[in-house]
Amino acid sequence: MNHAAARDDREETVQGHFDLIVIGGGSGGLAGAFRAAEHGARVALLEPHLLGGTCVNVGCVPKKAMWLAAEVGNRLKLARTLGFDASPAKLDWPTFLVHRQRYISNIHDSYRRRLDAAGIVTVASRGQLLDANTVLCGRGAHLRAERILIATGGHPVKPQIPGVELGGTSDDFFQWCAAPERVAIFGAGYIAVELAGVLQALGSRVEIFARGPRLLSEFDAEVSEQLAEDYRQAGVHLNFGYQLGRVQSVDGGVRLCDADGAIGERFDALLFATGRRANTAQLGLEAAGVAADANGYVLVDELHATNVANIHAVGDVTPNLALTPLAIAAARRLMDRLYGGREARLDQNDVPTVVFSHPPIGKVGLTEVEARAQHGDDVHVYRAGFRPMLYALADVPQRSLFKLVCVGDARRVIGIHLMGEAADEILQGFAVAMKRGITLEDLRDTVAIHPTSAEEVVLMR
Ligand code: FAD
Ligand code: NDP
Repeated sequence: MNHAAARDDREETVQGHFDLIVIGGGSGGLAGAFRAAEHGARVALLEPHLLGGTCVNVGCVPKKAMWLAAEVGNRLKLARTLGFDASPAKLDWPTFLVHRQRYISNIHDSYRRRLDAAGIVTVASRGQLLDANTVLCGRGAHLRAERILIATGGHPVKPQIPGVELGGTSDDFFQWCAAPERVAIFGAGYIAVELAGVLQALGSRVEIFARGPRLLSEFDAEVSEQLAEDYRQAGVHLNFGYQLGRVQSVDGGVRLCDADGAIGERFDALLFATGRRANTAQLGLEAAGVAADANGYVLVDELHATNVANIHAVGDVTPNLALTPLAIAAARRLMDRLYGGREARLDQNDVPTVVFSHPPIGKVGLTEVEARAQHGDDVHVYRAGFRPMLYALADVPQRSLFKLVCVGDARRVIGIHLMGEAADEILQGFAVAMKRGITLEDLRDTVAIHPTSAEEVVLMR
């Protein structure tokens, strides 16, 4: 992660013994530190970069800010179609970045105040395990604790091909001050889809190159096909089954060459969105005896315990789903157990998630394919394909697709897949309902809210 500034430099003054040392001040680490301190633990938190980690600095927060800017841009285009005297929707990035940065700085300030108020000793330094109770930080300072929480997150990775250095990652995207004219994005997961949507809406001409046959391979296939169609309508070019061989530099831009040597068109910028890996290099896992998998992820059980009794790990440094609310929930429950005397444990089934595409996609539970693999012919699928009212009014082709996956005679809902306007906001409530075991009949018994997109969920037949 390319964080410009560290907060302060207290490491030389810090020596000592704590109840808990938290390594990493991102979503999971901060949540764990705050919750442990609430329960009365003496906590030290090590973070060499900006407080908030990936989510706040190069993830969810700046991404959502860019997504919101793109949504406003799309609305302005619709406004013109609908008869408003709106001028062409071109974003002045530097102005917007001031707003984005102010928002993020407020989060840093708030964390800083809360850490101080909670009496958590924060050290602006990376940590390295020396043994199961000792962490080396800064210039030779040693901290000791009864327990250690590893929450060092992850970083983007690129494929190993010649010329890979000519392309950036999401970290680089957040340094951009303008939309490049033509952008190639390699990958088809969350980040590829989200950044493609943002850049296309903000004026770039975007082309996605994916090795697989579709976008978002972990999501429902029909939903991902409808998103691909909406992206094509918006002008994004999609190349599937593309095997990248190398990247060539040309006139201040790049060309992609496929595995057979065919050279493609010129792009002004290239982004790799090909997954992330755990930040465990030089963390001292071996010295402390902590087991990791072949990709460097710290292995944990369902209680987030590592193989070393007093060392736990949460968030992206583990093989669990890489989502901020999961890192936070895992850390809070862990500290409630360790210091609060509660039997809290995280249920990682049916975790709702949203891709901030244009339009967004929300999913909770099983896809149709996963459900059929588990339940065979007992699976029943209900769909609603429609044009949201605003798009119908403007006669824009963008469509929504909502899908329910149910099982058994009772039609218990085991998967909800929403692609369309407001899906990001609609899903949360239905995720609660699904966790409570609702059936299709429960949905149908609920009076619709009209006219909304959300009503389609309770009107499906
Ligand atoms: P991080 O937030 O990465 O924090 C780890 C911290 O540890 C970092 O600050 C790092 O500097 C520090 N660190 C590393 N090594 C050391 C060391 N040796 N010593 C001390 N400190 C160290 N999730 C969502 O739920 N919703 C979204 O919309 C979303 N959007 C995303 C968009 C992008 C572009 C990306 C990249 C991710 C997004 N995520 C999103 C995922 C989310 O950001 C992560 O799941 C979340 O930040 C993980 O939190 P964490 O605490 O495990 O790690
Ligand atoms: P993803 O795992 O979502 O997607 C990675 C993509 O890269 C896939 O399309 C994958 O293809 C492709 N890929 C991986 N390795 C290679 C390779 N060597 N060559 C070619 N293609 C490759 O990762 P992201 O980087 O998009 O995001 C990382 C994680 O961060 C997400 O999984 C998610 O947990 C989190 N995140 C969450 C967001 C949210 O909540 N809205 C937003 C952004 C990130 P294939 O499908 O064929 O394997």
